[in-house]
Amino acid sequence: MDIVSRLAGVIGSENVSYCDSELQSYGVDRTTIWEGNPKAVVFPRSVKQLQDIILFANKYSLKVVPSGGRTGLCGGAVANNSELVVSMDKMNIIKEINLDDRSITAEAGVTTQQIQVAAAENHLFYPVDFASSGSSQIGGNIATNAGGINVIRYGMTRNWILGLRVVTGSGDILNLNKSLVKNNTGYDFRHLFIGSEGTLGIIYEATLQLTEPPKPSTVCVFGVEKFAYLTEVLKICKSMLQVNAFEFFCNNALSRVVGAHQYQRPFDTESPFYALVELENTEIETETVFEVYSKCVDEKLITDGVISQSIDQARALWRLREDISETLWHFQPYKNDISVRISKMADFLNDVSQLTQKNYPDFEIIWYGHIGDGNIHLNILKPKNLSTLQFKSFCDGVSMSLGELISKYEGSISAEHGVGLLKKESLRFSRSEDEINLMKSIKKIFDPNAILNPGKLI
Ligand SMILES: Cc1cc2nc3c(=O)[nH]c(=O)nc-3n(C[C@H](O)[C@H](O)[C@H](O)COP(=O)(O)OP(=O)(O)OC[C@H]3O[C@@H](n4cnc5c(N)ncnc54)[C@H](O)[C@@H]3O)c2cc1C
Repeated sequence: MDIVSRLAGVIGSENVSYCDSELQSYGVDRTTIWEGNPKAVVFPRSVKQLQDIILFANKYSLKVVPSGGRTGLCGGAVANNSELVVSMDKMNIIKEINLDDRSITAEAGVTTQQIQVAAAENHLFYPVDFASSGSSQIGGNIATNAGGINVIRYGMTRNWILGLRVVTGSGDILNLNKSLVKNNTGYDFRHLFIGSEGTLGIIYEATLQLTEPPKPSTVCVFGVEKFAYLTEVLKICKSMLQVNAFEFFCNNALSRVVGAHQYQRPFDTESPFYALVELENTEIETETVFEVYSKCVDEKLITDGVISQSIDQARALWRLREDISETLWHFQPYKNDISVRISKMADFLNDVSQLTQKNYPDFEIIWYGHIGDGNIHLNILKPKNLSTLQFKSFCDGVSMSLGELISKYEGSISAEHGVGLLKKESLRFSRSEDEINLMKSIKKIFDPNAILNPGKLI
């Protein structure tokens, strides 16, 4: 009997798929570089089945790729080498909303958006949000410590995890932190699993902290002549109002989105860069938003701007930023997701800009990102005349120079997308050799037979 038939015997043939289209689609994430080629896809429906799969994989030396919504942007969920994909799609139940604790407990396959909606239905708020939240799963968010558009105010996914239940690479079941707010009883393994990219264990359940919904807000888009002015505009916004989000995009990004979706530009004046700002705004503070705008104009930081006058207009302005990633996907972009401390941002951006002008003179470069928390997405679009591999190999080369610059600024080669396969070679620019060796030692403890997510992260 072949190995996959044996596995079907363990967890039921209805929970195993080897049909070609599923092998291909479950073998890739949103990177466009690799092709999926797993041995099979399994869909556990209970922790017992999940544990049986991991014990089986250990026994028969099968490599396992944990799989969430596969919206990842660094090849973390790619299975291109006869691995077993463990999809969490069928563990998708919201188990409890606890109004006293202000928490929600859900299986790992529940989508980010389902968590947001369930919180809102109970007059609460789950603040982690980004354009892929309709498809990404809470398990994947935790495994990548996802960021998004609200980090400037609410922080990353890590800040919202009260408890985790996991099956480790050796098949042990752990209940981490028991959803306590205060628990000083030694090493907090919960935080090791957050951002571990499926290399230590599979998260099957999480308890998330919820909070008060934010007050009404106003969305503004400002035209900005220079990178350096963006951080000055941010300072003014922060000094006058509560900033919920501070995003930016370049004119190429705006043109691509407007062209693809037939959206209206926010205003007629073209600028090299745009800041999209969401400001908390009660009625009393409406005037203050106009004061922010006037101050930025007086200080010659912005050339033009628009302030939303309705919820619909605010939503339409957000689409200009939120639809960038999906629009660019069709151009097979090489993505750099980099960050430095906000205080170093202006100098860093200047240096990165010089580096890209020198190395990519003929490529279309798209800048956008969560500049309010020091994170920029630098996307290089693939020219039609280069093959995917030629393009990747060229960009990988430039990434080394970018990595050295990031290292000089003590920044990160991956602010929020993770390392996966895509950024593995660049990890050394952000983490020391000692740190990488410690990570390898930690992996051996939780996954002694190295079955989980081979070749990813470290
Ligand atoms: C249009 C678009 C916009 C995006 N915007 C943002 C953004 O603003 N901020 C941001 O941070 N990311 C963003 N992303 C990236 C992506 O959505 C996040 O990384 C997300 O957290 C991935 O979740 P997922 O369920 O799709 O995980 P997957 O892609 O399936 O997996 C990601 C990693 O987690 C592991 N994994 C998945 N599930 C589990 C589990 N249950 N247990 C253990 N390991 C697991 C996988 O092995 C892999 O290493 C965006 C993606 C798209 C397509």
